[in-house]
Amino acid sequence: MLFEHDNVNALARKEKAQHYAGDTIHPSTLEIMYELGILDEFLKRPHQQVTELGGKVGSETVTIADFTHLPTHCHFLALMPQWDFLNFITEQASRCPTFHLRMQAEVTDLIEVNGTVGGVRAKTPHGTLEIRASLTVGADGRRSVVRERAGLKVIDLGAPMDVMWMRLSRRPTDPPQTLGHFDRGRILFLINREDYWLGAHTSDCRFQAADLRTPESLICAFVIPKGTADEIRQRGLEAFRQEIAALEPFLQDRIAELGDWKQISLLTVTVDRLARWYQPGLLCIGDAAHAMSPIGGVGINLAIQDAVAAANLLGPKLRQNNVTESDLEAVQRRRSFPTRATQRFQILIQNNVIRKILGSDKTLSAPWVLKLLQRWPVLRRIPARVLGLGFRPEHVKAR
Ligand SMILES: Cc1cc2nc3c(=O)[nH]c(=O)nc-3n(C[C@H](O)[C@H](O)[C@H](O)COP(=O)(O)OP(=O)(O)OC[C@H]3O[C@@H](n4cnc5c(N)ncnc54)[C@H](O)[C@@H]3O)c2cc1C
Repeated sequence: MLFEHDNVNALARKEKAQHYAGDTIHPSTLEIMYELGILDEFLKRPHQQVTELGGKVGSETVTIADFTHLPTHCHFLALMPQWDFLNFITEQASRCPTFHLRMQAEVTDLIEVNGTVGGVRAKTPHGTLEIRASLTVGADGRRSVVRERAGLKVIDLGAPMDVMWMRLSRRPTDPPQTLGHFDRGRILFLINREDYWLGAHTSDCRFQAADLRTPESLICAFVIPKGTADEIRQRGLEAFRQEIAALEPFLQDRIAELGDWKQISLLTVTVDRLARWYQPGLLCIGDAAHAMSPIGGVGINLAIQDAVAAANLLGPKLRQNNVTESDLEAVQRRRSFPTRATQRFQILIQNNVIRKILGSDKTLSAPWVLKLLQRWPVLRRIPARVLGLGFRPEHVKAR
C-alpha cells in the first residue's frame, strides 16, 4: 500500500504467526491506517479499544496513561491478535495490482550482482525460488536471515528478562482491564481479550496460534530474570503455579489447569540494533534493524513507522529505478533518533524498574512518579503521548 505504484514482491516464511509477539496497535499506527483510507475497515474487525493503561504495584492499582486527549483520530490503543492484523493488512495490500505475496517462502540467502544486493533466494514447498529486485527490504524480525547474510554488524544492548507465556480460562467475574502486576520479585501481565486473557511471566515461551484462539480462555505473561527458566522448572510446577496465584489471587481457582510444563512457553527478550541498516540494494527495517523489548508494547508500531519513512523517502527514487546508498542512509538517519530514544527508554525501564523488581523480595509500593500520576490525572497524557505516538511519528506522504 505504501509503495502502491511499485512492483512489490513480499515473502513470508509461515502461513501464520507461530508465537505471541504483541497484539497492540497504537494510535500512531491507527493514524497511518486513517491516512491510507483503511481505518474504517480495520475498526469493523473484532478488536478491543483501551483508553487507559494501568497496573498494580503491590496492592495499589495505578493508572499510567490516558489516550483520550491525543491529537489523533483514534483516542485509544487497539488490541487485535497479530495474525488477524497481518491478515487484514495483506487483504488490503492485495487490492494493489502491483503487490504479490508468497506465503511459505523462507528467505535463505541474498543474490549478489556486481557487489550489490540484487534480490533473494527462498525455500518453498515447491523448491528454490529466486526473486530479483532493485531494492530488497529485510523486514524479517529479530532473528533476521537477511541481516545475517548481509553481514551487518549487530550492537547488542542486553535485556535482563525473559517471558513465560501460558493460557488459563477466563471467568465473567474477572477484572475487566488490561493490567500488569508488579510485586515481590515478580511481574505478571494479563491482557483481557474478552474471550480469553493474554498473559506473560517474564523468561522463551512459544504459543501455537491455535492455542490462543480457544474461546473462553485467558493467557498470561510472567516476567522472569534472564536465564532462570530452568531454575524455575526445577523448583517444580506446583511452586510455579503458586507464584502466579500469589500475584493474582483471582487465578487460584483455575491455576491447576497448568498441568504440564508443555503448556508454558518461554520467549527470550533481545534488544539490539544494527550499526548500519543498509548496503547497496538492501535496507533492513523493524526488528531486523533494531530488535525491541516488549516494554511499552511499541515494537510493531516502530516497525510500521520505519516502513512509512522508507516509502516516503524511497518511493519516488524507486519509480526512477535510482535508489542510491545515500538514499538508504537517509532512511536510517530519519529513523535513528526514534529508535535510539525508544530503546533508551526501554533500557532505562529494564535497568531501573524491571531489574530491581525481579531482584527484590519485598512488597512493593508505587514509586513517587506513579503517585504523581494518580494525584494529577492530567499528567497521564505524557506517557500516553510517548507510548501512543512515539518519538517523531511518520505520516503517509501523498503520491
Ligand atoms: C515477548 C514479546 C512481547 C512483545 N509484545 C509486543 C506488543 O505487545 N506490542 C508491540 O508493539 N510489540 C511487542 N513486542 C515487540 C514486537 O514483537 C516486535 O518489535 C515487532 O513484531 C517487530 O515487527 P517486525 O515486522 O520487524 O518483525 P516480526 O513481527 O518479527 O515479523 C517478521 C516476519 O518475518 C518472517 N520471517 C522471518 N524470517 C523469515 C525468512 N527467512 N523468510 C521469510 N520470512 C521470514 C516472520 O515469520 C515474521 O512474519 C514484543 C516482543 C516480545 C519479545
